[in-house]
Order: sequence, then structure tokens, then C-alpha cells
Amino acid sequence: MASQEAARKDWDTYFMDIAYMASTRSRCPRRHVGAVLVQGKNLMGTAYNGAPSGSPDCSEEGCMIVEEYELQHQSGQEQVIKKQRCIRTIHAEQNLLLFTDRIHREGSTVYVTDQPCWTCANMLANSGVKEIVYHRAYKKDSEKVVRLMEQKGILFRSLHHYSPPPQTVMDVQA
Ligand SMILES: [Zn+2]
Ligand SMILES: [Zn+2]
Repeated sequence: MASQEAARKDWDTYFMDIAYMASTRSRCPRRHVGAVLVQGKNLMGTAYNGAPSGSPDCSEEGCMIVEEYELQHQSGQEQVIKKQRCIRTIHAEQNLLLFTDRIHREGSTVYVTDQPCWTCANMLANSGVKEIVYHRAYKKDSEKVVRLMEQKGILFRSLHHYSPPPQTVMDVQA
């Protein structure tokens, strides 16, 4: 009995595993993100990053790349760094909001494989969600996202000791 109990997944692991499973549906070779909505331990929705249904996805027509400039501070110096980003897909968190009802989000928890970007965090902050749990860090927007969550009183935490189920993490281009 004791060993069975020890082997049983805790809720965080259980729902993050499902988020990683959802992420395997993504067809963008640059990023695979999955998200699930949980209300009172009930799964209310799952989502991943992808093109709008019926329109070509990244595996069919390639990523839609835009270039952006990012200001970074390195050893007291400001540096402008050029970055590429795929804008073909709707982010997993935004798809999750598009496919769930407000009533199912009130007081809910979102499990997401990656720390939300600023836009997703901003939308989640206005969605009724009360807790966001993520795994992989996304440093670029982290500071302002953390501040927003504090302002909104949304619990924002990462799973440090978590490892995703085998075969759910795909090799992606940096
Ligand atoms: Zn793409
Ligand atoms: Zn996002």
C-alpha cells in the first residue's frame, strides 16, 4: 500500500503531464506549448499553440517569422539583440481562453508547460483564473509578468522538481 501511494502522481504532476501531452499536438517546429484549465481538480479544457483551425499550420507552410529587437542588460551594458519569432500560431494560453467559458475559469488554475509571455499573462490576468503553474522559464517577460500577477493577487509558481513524461518534449529550434 505504502509503495502504491508513493507512486501515485500528485495533482501538480498529473495536470502538468496533461499539459505536456497537449503540447505534442503543436505543429510549430519552434515551440511546443500546452496548457490546461483546472477548476476544483476538474479538467475544463486543454490547448496548445497552433494556427487557427482550417488555416495552414507551420508544418504545411512554414513558420511565419518576424524579427524583433530586444534590449538586454549585460554586465552593466545595454545591448540590442535581434531575435526571430513565429507569429503564425495562437499561443496555447490564448487558445485555452478562446475554447473555455468564463464560468469555468472563475477561481481556476491554469497549468502551462512554459511561463506565459506578456500578452498571454495580461489576458490570463483578466480571465478569472486565480492560479498559474508553469514548468519551463521564459525570462524575457518574467519581471513584468511576476509584477502583474502580484498586482492581481494571482498565485504564480513554477514546478522546480518536475520532469515531463517521456516522448512529450520535442526537439525545437532555439
Ligand atoms: Zn511556427
Ligand atoms: Zn504567449
